[in-house]
Amino acid sequence: MSGERVCEFCSSALPEQRGGRKRRWCSDQCRWKAARARQKADVSVAGIASEVAATAVLDSPVITAQVLIDLAGRIAEGRCDGPEWNAAIDATIGLHRTLVARMRRLNGI
Ligand SMILES: [Zn+2]
Repeated sequence: MSGERVCEFCSSALPEQRGGRKRRWCSDQCRWKAARARQKADVSVAGIASEVAATAVLDSPVITAQVLIDLAGRIAEGRCDGPEWNAAIDATIGLHRTLVARMRRLNGI
């Protein structure tokens, strides 16, 4: 169904809700994982605040593609297996789910 609201972390459909604050996550687990991912991202990269660096990357489709291709290669080679990569892997899984949900909505399936 188009217009269906989805979890900001895993893109699962959010349950119907009456009144109150709008839900952003499908579960406490997703709310916690999203908070952990934000916390892990709150660092600096080469002296640049991570949020500034991330925005600079995301403002460039070419660099974003490079990052995603490199990440896929690293995952395939088992170079992201340590626990320090958990937030990045969780975010990647969330990205995959978001893309699948978007494609399903666009294609009406
Ligand atoms: Zn969720």
